[in-house]
Amino acid sequence: MGRSSKDKRDIYYRLAKEEGWRARSAFKLLQLDHEFNLFTGVNRAVDLCAAPGSWSQVLSRKLRFSNEGVKIVAVDLQAMAPLPGVTQIQGDITKVSTAQEIIRHFEGQPADLVVCDGAPDVTGLHDVDEYIQAQLLLAALNITTHVLKPGGTFVAKIFRGKDVTLLYSQLKIFFSGVTCAKPRSSRNSSIEAFVVCQNYSPPEGYVPNMSNPLLDHSYDVDFNQLEGPNRVIVPFLACGDLSAFDSDRTYPLQLEAGKQYQYTPPTQPPICPPYQQACHLRKNNLLSREDAPSVFDSKANLIRLM
Ligand code: SAM
Repeated sequence: MGRSSKDKRDIYYRLAKEEGWRARSAFKLLQLDHEFNLFTGVNRAVDLCAAPGSWSQVLSRKLRFSNEGVKIVAVDLQAMAPLPGVTQIQGDITKVSTAQEIIRHFEGQPADLVVCDGAPDVTGLHDVDEYIQAQLLLAALNITTHVLKPGGTFVAKIFRGKDVTLLYSQLKIFFSGVTCAKPRSSRNSSIEAFVVCQNYSPPEGYVPNMSNPLLDHSYDVDFNQLEGPNRVIVPFLACGDLSAFDSDRTYPLQLEAGKQYQYTPPTQPPICPPYQQACHLRKNNLLSREDAPSVFDSKANLIRLM
């Protein structure tokens, strides 16, 4: 793939590099903020599943611009290059110890905003991917119940799969406003959307914990069959200015008449991403021989040795 071909295929990938964002996802949060005004009055924000860090960059640029006393905590399993004004925790959002570490960084104060763009490594098996994504969203919700202030906002990536109404129902227990939003920069062809959950108001007497009903196999319900008051329908909103670039379209490299296209390298590539070993093997032609003896790597992928 040439250096410019990805720029040509994906307009937001290219704009991200030109504007200095670490990933194209930055535009998703910017477009969500444009619609929901997420950052007003926010002094303490948590970015769950933050690497390589474009959402943290958005938080850092937007919040610190308006207020010096802002605190931002970013959590990811993977290491992330430092960012001004962002405290990093390399940790797992399914662990209560991570919630405790976040609270420690805020010196016991709750957060005003929690965002989560978490995604597992996709397998390509849609049911499995949707299930794992739902687990991650529930883990993010659980950790949020430990750290968010009453009235606060939670924003998270969601896959609009067949069990999505169960997730909406669970979110509605904790937030009076739940909206499913699709920013322009999120491809129409993708099942991804974002839930914007406003006005955190847990049930009276609720004690935060890390349990997860989807993992509790005593539930014997076809979740898609929820009916009557159990079935929750939340508003769906396409957001982002309609004149914004369409993430499913291909644009010419020269976007403005008279302005020559110039290649921009990525702002901050991920540190030690999980695919690094695979890239190394492929670049060095170590994956190519069909008759070579094979082993499984740490993620159970079949690797052929030369
Ligand atoms: N919002 C990020 C940005 O703008 O740069 C991109 C996030 S990326 C799509 C998803 C991230 O979720 C990955 O970096 C992955 O390591 C993280 N992740 C997945 N499961 C996690 C977990 N259990 N705890 C913490 N991070 C997790």
